[in-house]
Amino acid sequence: MKKRGKIVIFAGPSGVGKETVKRLFINDRRFNLRYSISATSRKKRNGEINRENYHFLSKNKFEKWIKKNKFLEWVTFANNYYGTPYKFLEKHLKKGQNVLLEIDIVGVKKVIKKYPDAVTIFLLPPKIGDLEKRLLARKTERTEEIKVRIEIAKAEIKEKDLFKYQVINKKPENSANEIIEILKKELL
Ligand code: 5GP
Repeated sequence: MKKRGKIVIFAGPSGVGKETVKRLFINDRRFNLRYSISATSRKKRNGEINRENYHFLSKNKFEKWIKKNKFLEWVTFANNYYGTPYKFLEKHLKKGQNVLLEIDIVGVKKVIKKYPDAVTIFLLPPKIGDLEKRLLARKTERTEEIKVRIEIAKAEIKEKDLFKYQVINKKPENSANEIIEILKKELL
């Protein structure tokens, strides 16, 4: 039987730069890493593509997926639903592929309960003020939502010890290199 793949959880507060860092390590062939595309009920941002960034669903459809047990875990974050589809994850783990999840802290807790051997990485900002700056600069959320995201971010940072690895995102290239070293150790 094929050795099962591992889950790699990549988390970090909103605005920390997860997307940029992820792009710098996700395609490294050595790690046989598949990205789990989450479902969400939040609106698509400019430049985002359905079924690439997220499965963008209506609230109604998301609730149907919940009822059909399609999620390994799901949460409400800043007034929207987010969830990890179960089928994709299991299919790839069974094939021996590793799967990257980019999820919030509430989701992380649920996943590590079910998959205690998941590799957990948390990306931190050098300063909390950096998050606000980035969120304001990227202009993807309204001021009210930015406030909500900053409050969630502060709470998330307090729980950073939940993660085996913590990476401070001073420069995306350096963070990605640190993560590559972690993945070498954990996956190869
Ligand atoms: P954003 O709206 O900025 O794309 O994501 C908001 C937060 O939801 C981020 O912390 C992101 O990692 C998290 N998130 C995205 N997908 C999922 C998911 O499937 N499950 C959980 N629990 N959180 C998710």
